[in-house]
Order: sequence, then structure tokens, then C-alpha cells
Amino acid sequence: MVPRSISRKSFIKNSSILFAAGSGLLASGQAGSVGSFPAPAAGKALTLKNVRLETGFEYEEGQVSGTKTELFTIEISNGKIKSVLPNNPAAKGMDAKGLLLLPAFREMHIHLDKTYYGEKWKATNRKGGGVKGMIALEQQIIPGLLQNSTYKAEKLIELLQSKGSNFARSHVNIEPTSKLDSLKHLQKALEHKKDSFEAELVAFPQHGLYYTDSTGLMKDAAQMGVAFIGGLDPASIDGSIEKSMDFVVQLALDYHKGIDIHLHEGGASGVQTIEYLIKKVNENPVLKGKTFISHCFVLAHLEQNRLEEVAEKMGNAQIGVISTIPFGRTIMPIPTLYKYGVDVRAGNDCIIDHWSTFGSGSVLQKANLAAQLYGYNTELGLSRILKLATHNVLPLDDKGNQQWPKTGDKADLVLVEASCSAEAVSRISPVRSLIHRGNVVF
Ligand SMILES: [Zn+2]
Repeated sequence: MVPRSISRKSFIKNSSILFAAGSGLLASGQAGSVGSFPAPAAGKALTLKNVRLETGFEYEEGQVSGTKTELFTIEISNGKIKSVLPNNPAAKGMDAKGLLLLPAFREMHIHLDKTYYGEKWKATNRKGGGVKGMIALEQQIIPGLLQNSTYKAEKLIELLQSKGSNFARSHVNIEPTSKLDSLKHLQKALEHKKDSFEAELVAFPQHGLYYTDSTGLMKDAAQMGVAFIGGLDPASIDGSIEKSMDFVVQLALDYHKGIDIHLHEGGASGVQTIEYLIKKVNENPVLKGKTFISHCFVLAHLEQNRLEEVAEKMGNAQIGVISTIPFGRTIMPIPTLYKYGVDVRAGNDCIIDHWSTFGSGSVLQKANLAAQLYGYNTELGLSRILKLATHNVLPLDDKGNQQWPKTGDKADLVLVEASCSAEAVSRISPVRSLIHRGNVVF
């Protein structure tokens, strides 16, 4: 049985006392709110006892009917799993109290640079006009947003950590209004959080590459530590799929970056953009596995034969799709994308900003949404779709063999108040602790 009554406060209090007694890394009472937690320096050892790990499936009439778990003691050093041992309740170290250990979650599409989070509640103030209307709005409000964007990014990172993510792929505005300041301010926040959080950045020409002249700034950004070159609706914003995508592809090639474009456009130009990108990636195989389309809503509205054709080509070109798992009029065909081996990843996109206020910061919630939308409702189905939160790292393989954690794995871990992965997805179980490279950060 997993204890159900541990509050986060008492858990952290107890673990900090044990921490202090066990390793001498922390004095009792130093543990506290996220961000103020003095993470032990990388390389220090950490022992976790009473850790619940999944060990296999139970079967009834050939169907997975449950998940077996046992308690273990895990030793961590140098930011990695050193050993997974039979449980030793008497071990000195942090007491996980029977909580389920899962791979830390990964938020794969967010805008850490552009948020109201950390300030007072504010509903969206869209004034219509589609994406171009939003560009006009941004040109007015971005100078105000930039005034304390480092602080707000740090608050947003703390929210993600509290929801179990120690990693984010963040888009960052590169346009003539903020110039390179959105990027610089976010990099400052990430520097402050570097012991507890990791991010990869996408240089995002939110106001169009040519609609506003952002090409020079994008070249500058490509040389400032970003990992991906972004893009935006090339036909509807820049008026040319080829001109806009050619710039993105060339910049990625010139500076050895990946690609992650926002594609909201539907209809013919949406599909043409996907097919053009597939062609460019096939011409430049170095971009395979490094190219992503965020949103890609047009796929939700293709008839099945056409969808399968496009999905197969995307799978072959190793172009991934990043989704917020939308519902309502746009249901993404994620099972079809999986069928063709497309790398699907999930993100919250907006937590609270002028685009949307519905992001919770939890990618576990995205896995839950997918389970509901696509019928992954059995023990097996629920346990498999956890991969949307962990980016494909699962404790058990499809046959129930234990495959995580193993010696040498990064110690990026989350402790969840659940009895197994399936329950965690179904209940969106509370996150009680996050460990980043062996450092307890939440
Ligand atoms: Zn976005």
C-alpha cells in the first residue's frame, strides 16, 4: 500500500531531517519552498530508501490487469543512478515513504520568456485578427512584459518543477520589438536555476521572419546558445512557404541547430508546409530526428488516407510533432502518428499569458488528456501513455520487463503519490518531490 496521507510539507520536513542526519548535506529546516531549496552540489551522494518501483505486470486471461511494485533503496552519485538495491529501511538518507518513483517529466513546448505568471491573474485580451492580430497586440505589450520577465520565468520554472518537470523546451521571442532581450532575460533566469532545471531554447520569430524583418535578429540569436531555429505559419504570415522555410532550414544547417516551427495554419498551405519541410529534411538528412512541428493542427482535419500518407512521410523523415493535446474542434490524430513512428511530445505552451490561461504546468495532465481522448484506458494503455510526460522513458517495457531505472541513468526523478504509472496518469497523482541530477529541488 502506498501511504495516501503524506502532505508535501510533512514529506519535505521529514526528508530534510533525514537528509541532514544521513548525509550532512543540509541542516534541518533549510528545506523549504521551491527555488530557495539549497540543492547539494553535483557530485554529492544521495541515498533514497523506501522507493516504490514497478517490477512487472499482473495478468488475467492474457490481459494486463495490474502492475506489481516493490520497495527499493537507490544510491545516487555524480548526478547518476549508482545502484538499485533491495530495500534497506534502516539506510541513512532520504525516506521516500513508499512513493512511486518515475522518470522526471519533460515539458516540451512552453514560452518561459512571455508570461504573466508570478503576477496577478489576468484573462486573455485577444482583440481578434488571428495570429496577425496577436502580433499587433504583442508589439504593444512586450515592452511591459520584458520589465520583469526574468523574475516571471523563474516563477514559471518553479511551477513546472512542482508539477514534476526538470526540463523544458522553451520558445523565446526573437522579433524587432524585444530584439534579443527576451532571450537575454530568459538566459539570466536559467542561469539562476541551473542547478535545478535544464532547458533547450528555440529562437522563435513570433512576428514573422519577413512580415516584420526578423532575419538579422534570428542570425544573431542562432549564435547565442539556442538549440533550435523556430518558425511561424510561413504562408499566412510571411506570404511564402519556400522563402520562409528556406531561411529556417539554412539557418539551422549553418549553425548546426534543430528546427521547431509553430504551424497553426490549416488547409492546403498547412499541408504544403509539412510536405515542403519533409522534402528539405530528406535533402538534408542531418536534420532527421532534429526537426519538429509544434501544433501542426492541419493534421487534425485531413481525411484518413491523406493523413496516413503524410504521417508515414513524417515518420520516415523523423520529423516529430509537439502537441498540447488540444480538444474541442481540433483533436490531433496522435494514435495515427504513433502508428508511423512519429516522435510525439507534449507541452503546456501557455500557462497564463495573452494567448491562453489554461496551462496547468503539468505534462502528466497532458498524458491523462491523451488517455481520455484516445481511449488508452486500460492498465496497459494508461501505463504506456505516461511516455508523453517522460518523453518515452517508461519503467516497464510493453511485456512488463523492468527497464528503468538502471545503473548509469541520469538521476532525474520524480516521486509521485501513486501505486503505479497507470494510476499516476489516470488520477494525475500529486508530485511530492523532484530530483534533478541527484539534487532534491522540490
Ligand atoms: Zn507556442
